[in-house]
Amino acid sequence: MTPYEEALRLILDQARRLATEVVSLEGAGGKYVAGRVESPAALPPFANSAMDGFALDTQGRERPADSRWRVLGSVAAGDAGSEPREAHAAADGSARWGRAVEIMTGAPVPPGFDTVVRVEDVEVEEEGDDHPARIRVTVPVEPGQNIRSAGRDFEVGDPVVLPGSRLGAPEVAALAALGVSRVPVFRAPRVAVFATGAELVADPDRELAPGEIRNSNGPFLGRVLAELELSVLANRTMDDREGPFLEVLDDVVGQGVDLVVSTGAVSMGRHDFIPRAVEKAGARTLFHKAAIRPGKPVLAAVLPSGALFFGLPGNPVSVAAGFRFFVQPFIRALRGQPPEIPWRLPLAQAVGKRPQLRYFRAVEMVATEEGGTAVRVLPDQKSFRLSPLLSADAWCVLPEGLDELPAGARVDVVPL
Ligand code: AMP
Ligand code: MG
Repeated sequence: MTPYEEALRLILDQARRLATEVVSLEGAGGKYVAGRVESPAALPPFANSAMDGFALDTQGRERPADSRWRVLGSVAAGDAGSEPREAHAAADGSARWGRAVEIMTGAPVPPGFDTVVRVEDVEVEEEGDDHPARIRVTVPVEPGQNIRSAGRDFEVGDPVVLPGSRLGAPEVAALAALGVSRVPVFRAPRVAVFATGAELVADPDRELAPGEIRNSNGPFLGRVLAELELSVLANRTMDDREGPFLEVLDDVVGQGVDLVVSTGAVSMGRHDFIPRAVEKAGARTLFHKAAIRPGKPVLAAVLPSGALFFGLPGNPVSVAAGFRFFVQPFIRALRGQPPEIPWRLPLAQAVGKRPQLRYFRAVEMVATEEGGTAVRVLPDQKSFRLSPLLSADAWCVLPEGLDELPAGARVDVVPL
């Protein structure tokens, strides 16, 4: 039985960085960035108004309420924002009045103007032809208000996305705003899934014969792999015969598979053919049986192609935990992502365990009386029971070496 940390290290030692490609931003959503992208531009590109209102030339001075201003022009979003001509430089002595320009949200603040006041804080004293001619600002004016200066969001050279980060909606928005149209990404890891078991029925519409069960591991893995943006070469249901298994394995290796995940047939039963079959395929076993619960019989091996083979036991929760704590860290490493940093949260109740094993338990987040967050280990967790996973918020890790953790003990917690 290999301790978890050692088993994980054996796996991560095998992770080779995936090849990268440059794709257009349009098709890049959900992919993982392969290089640091620095901002090629400032955002906002020019100082612009945060409000509909009036830009003022305060000359850096505060004004009490009821200051008066003459309005020289009007700028809308999309206008070039050149200096307004002194159209209203009146002969009636109002040149003493401060200079203002009517301005809309997002419009460039013309040179020489340093403040914007909201239209709500302005009274028009005299209308002009196509914009107010004179205004009174009903509130005190402080220089520098309501202007979004150039580069306030991103300066040229600022890092926008880092290697390994996922291109979610915020990343896509920032890159689009900065005019980055092509992004280096890792190619999707290629994976194959084999759900083994003579009892398995893949067709959800077929009635079960006595002794048969439906394959849930295949659909489970198909879903989590899609969420992680892997390319699934095959997701097969098969019985416990070595011959057909080796054929399909050979086929996906030929297609350049990076990792293979099988479920079932990896323990001590007479039909548990996987350990011997992968050896026949020329694989080098990294470990077989890890000191964990659920999912102890797990096997990891390196195929002659360099692809990693993960043999997870068949029980559905063993698959979920084995995937989460072995396969997912490997996928992260392929994409150059650093190891995940778990949250540390207190247990809401005392939990007992076998000291030799590291436990992975489904938990829900609960509020503590002091207003904090704790994790409650969901009741009746068995490796064959899917239902606790449906009410789970996260996994917690109960370390080896302990036979009981008291309520309040802090444990590692990671998202489901
Ligand atoms: P095994 O690891 O092959 O001994 O399987 C352990 C348990 O998991 C058995 O009760 C199997 O019937 C069940 N099992 C195996 N594969 C699947 C699957 N793909 N979907 C649902 N249950 C499975
Ligand atoms: Mg089986």
